[in-house]
Amino acid sequence: MTESKGLLLVVSGPAGSGKSTVLAEVVKDEAFAYSVSATTRQPRPGEINGVNYHFITREQFEEHVKNGDFVEYTEYVGNCYGTLYSEIKGKTDEGINVILELEVQGAENVKRMFPDAVLVWLLPPNYTTLEQRLRGRGTETDDVITKRMNTAVKELGKFSLYDYVVISENGKPDDAVRSIKEIVNAEKHKVSRTNNFVDNFLNN
Ligand code: 5GP
Repeated sequence: MTESKGLLLVVSGPAGSGKSTVLAEVVKDEAFAYSVSATTRQPRPGEINGVNYHFITREQFEEHVKNGDFVEYTEYVGNCYGTLYSEIKGKTDEGINVILELEVQGAENVKRMFPDAVLVWLLPPNYTTLEQRLRGRGTETDDVITKRMNTAVKELGKFSLYDYVVISENGKPDDAVRSIKEIVNAEKHKVSRTNNFVDNFLNN
């Protein structure tokens, strides 16, 4: 009798950590769903509005802030990002594990509001690989790449705030997908997540 509610799974990692590939694979499993964030960033080639992000203007973003629509929001390398309540409400009650892909500040805020949330780092094997992947994407200017590398280093200062770390090795996204699912499974078996287990056990 494990936890039947879905988990809030916060995944953080620098651009180039393989997050998109790995998480796209995880959410093919219907027990998982993405929380699609709102952002003022321009879409990258291949990104789809409503799938990768809700791409909105700064005015629309500010309207959401004013209306209290965000669980949390932040500014990151010059753009705004926010998690909408509407993306998580109801889903966890239905047993769906909701994945929030957040930078560190957002993860910290979510953990404060939802202490049951599970925080996972998804990282490349090392710094050199991170830089290679970031440059290999060819979607950002040198200036943005440098900013993102610096931000990644700074974010690792909060390493121990997280519960788990998963490495996405080159060419092995499936290993990272498996690890994430194993983490969720283990979390659901935690004694601290069971409700009235002993009473139910003894009375049935
Ligand atoms: P990117 O521009 O590479 O898609 O995302 C930049 C950073 O913003 C990543 O670390 C990503 O995880 C984070 N991010 C995406 N959506 C949100 C959000 O809703 N809230 C917060 N706090 N961070 C987000």
